[in-house]
Amino acid sequence: MLTRAYAAHSPTMPLAPFEIERREPGPNDVAIDILYCGVCHSDLHTVRGEWPGVLYPSVAGHEIVGRVRAVGPDVTKVRVGSLVGVGCMVDSCRTCAACARNLEQYCENGFIATYNGSSLGGSENTYGGYSAAIVVDEHFVLRITHNENDLAAVAPLLCAGITTWSPLRHWNVGPGMKIGVVGIGGLGHMAIKLAHALGAHVVAFTTSPSKREAALALGADEVVISTDNSQMLMHAASFSFILNTVAASHDLDAFMALLKLDGTMTVVGVPSSPHPSPAIAPFIFKRRSLAGSVIGGIAETQEMLDFCARHDITADIETIAIQDIEAAFARMVKSDVQYRFVIDMATLKTA
Ligand code: NAP
Ligand code: ZN
Ligand code: ZN
Repeated sequence: MLTRAYAAHSPTMPLAPFEIERREPGPNDVAIDILYCGVCHSDLHTVRGEWPGVLYPSVAGHEIVGRVRAVGPDVTKVRVGSLVGVGCMVDSCRTCAACARNLEQYCENGFIATYNGSSLGGSENTYGGYSAAIVVDEHFVLRITHNENDLAAVAPLLCAGITTWSPLRHWNVGPGMKIGVVGIGGLGHMAIKLAHALGAHVVAFTTSPSKREAALALGADEVVISTDNSQMLMHAASFSFILNTVAASHDLDAFMALLKLDGTMTVVGVPSSPHPSPAIAPFIFKRRSLAGSVIGGIAETQEMLDFCARHDITADIETIAIQDIEAAFARMVKSDVQYRFVIDMATLKTA
C-alpha cells in the first residue's frame, strides 16, 4: 500500500514528504496506523549519515505507537482497534541461541532494524515510523495498556524506555544501590524515572546546569554538574552502577573514577566519533568494568511497558508537527529538549 512518509534523501538534505510502499499483511502481520512517533537521537545520527552504512532515502522513527487497522488470519496477540507499539526491531531469525533466550536484539544473524535494516536475507531498506502506517510481524508488536490520553508520551518508551530498562535490569539495579545516570536527554530522563521506580538512589550527571531542578523532579536524588571537578570528586569511588547515555564523544575516565569496587559503567550512547580510550589503571585497582548494551528484547520491552503502566510512568515530551522536524533536530544537537520530541502523525496529512 502506498503510504505517506517523511524521508531524508542524503545526509545534507532536509527531510521532505515521500511516499513508501508497505506490504499487504501476511498471515502473522499486523497493519498499524501510526498516531505518534518519538524522535530519537539515533534518527538524527542516521538521516545525517553520521553512522556508516545508511541507505537513502531514509525514513527514520522507531518509537512508534498507533492503532491496529488490520491483522492477518493467524494473529492472536492483538485485535483490530488495539493500541500497540513498535520499537527498534521488526524481525530477527527467531532460531539462534540469542533469539531462543528472548534476546532478539543480540540475534546472531542480525536483527532487522525498523529503519535502515534490510529484510531477512534481502538487501532492500526498511522504513520507520515517520510515516502514516507500518506492517509488522505480531512477534515484534507490543501491547499498550496505558490510558489512551497518554499515548504520545508512551511512544518514547519503545526506544528510550527499553534501552535504559534493559541494562538497569541486567545489572540488578534496585533498593540500596547508588547509581548514576549520565546525560539527561531522551534516554537519560527515562533512566532516572525507571531507576527511581526500581528503588535505587539516583544521581544525575548533566553538562546543563539549567536541568538541575527538572532532574530532581524526574526522580533524581542528587544532581551533579559533570563539568565541575569539585562536585565530581565528592562522589569518587561510590557507585555500583552508572548508565552513560551521552550522544557525543567525551572523557570516560572521569566517570570510571566514580565506580566503587566491582562497579560497572554501561554505555548506550553511540557517538559518531569515538571516545578517547579510557585509562586502564582505574579498572585494575577496583576491578571495575566498562560495558555496553543495545535496546532490549521483545519480552523485556513488554515487561517494561507493563511496569510503566502500573507505575504511571511516561516520557516528558514536546509534541511537534512533522513539518517542524528539522527545527527539532537542531534543538536536539544543542541538548535543548525536555526531554523527547514526539511527532503527531496526524500532521502528515497536511504535509
Ligand atoms: P539526546 O536526547 O540528544 O540526549 C543526549 C544527552 O547527552 C544530552 O541531552 C546531553 O545531556 C548529553 N550530551 C550531549 N552532548 C554532550 C557532550 N558533548 N558532552 C557531554 N554530554 C553531552 O539523545 P538520546 O536520544 O537520549 O540518545 C543518546 C545516545 O544513545 C545517542 O547516541 C543514541 O544514538 C544512542 N542510543 C543508543 C541505543 C542503544 O540501544 N544502545 C538506543 C537508543 C539511542 P546533558 O544536557 O544532561 O548533559
Ligand atoms: Zn532510539
Ligand atoms: Zn536470531
